[in-house]
Amino acid sequence: AGAIIGLDIGGTKTHGVRFEDGIAVADSSAGSSNVQNVSREEAAAHLAELFARIAPTGGGVARVYAGSGGIDTDDDAAALAALIEPHVPGARITVVHDSRLLLAAGGASTGVAVIAGTGSAAWGRNEAGDEARAGGWGYLLGDEGSGYWLGREAVRHSLRRMNQGLPVDQLTSALLDSCGVDDPNRLIALFHSSGTGRRFWAQQARHVVEAAAAGHVASQELLDQAGSDLADLAVQTLRKLGIEGPVILGGGLGMNVAGLQDAFRKHLGAAGVTDVRVLDQEPVFGVLQLVAEQDTARR
Ligand code: BGC
Repeated sequence: AGAIIGLDIGGTKTHGVRFEDGIAVADSSAGSSNVQNVSREEAAAHLAELFARIAPTGGGVARVYAGSGGIDTDDDAAALAALIEPHVPGARITVVHDSRLLLAAGGASTGVAVIAGTGSAAWGRNEAGDEARAGGWGYLLGDEGSGYWLGREAVRHSLRRMNQGLPVDQLTSALLDSCGVDDPNRLIALFHSSGTGRRFWAQQARHVVEAAAAGHVASQELLDQAGSDLADLAVQTLRKLGIEGPVILGGGLGMNVAGLQDAFRKHLGAAGVTDVRVLDQEPVFGVLQLVAEQDTARR
């Protein structure tokens, strides 16, 4: 059998791994190729960069299994598959929503996966094979509890204090430094400028995380709100499926920020959900299980 290529396409990066006989033999990342957030041209360029590294000749690849943000309809999936195809002639290409990779990477066949990355979303499956989703509306409509949401809330926090005539606090000061501006008032134009975007503001979430860890109360409240909103997505998905867990938390923020994990667990606990796990490997490694499931279903 030929190689399998797994892709995990988030709002910030495209992570690709080439598997041969179940073993990862190449692993690389490029910029986002999520067609909801970047232009087709940008997505195509990032995919070309990645495939040049993990499948330079395009030959020998039997399958590509991609989980991507922004895949809400069959048309979305087909558009992304068309961008992948030229790099792997003849390979079978499957495109699914990125949240599906998480459950598999967490070693669970049923349960709910929650992504807290650049964007946010929840997806799950029960024993009967029913699937359900909540959130994942993208940054313009939702993405509560995501990196982008936290970054934007940091800006709003700074602007609210400016309205009230309050001095620059710890969070605002870190944000202004990182944005290279000296007054909160300048954040308004910067936010709307074409030089910044979804990824830029998602990266500013780290100032909320750092200020919260240093005891800044408003930042702690923002992390708590993020944990609560993400817990709501999980609970909505669990209810639709009629299951109680497990809930697996992934995404860059979800996997790395203790304050967010604590808030998430706290709010889930209050809703009676106790089997909560943090993903401990990159989602792209869930591809092997998904490909195996695809084969079982076909037999
Ligand atoms: C996208 C979703 C995606 C989520 C997590 C959101 O911005 O709209 O499709 O699942 O980010 O990557």
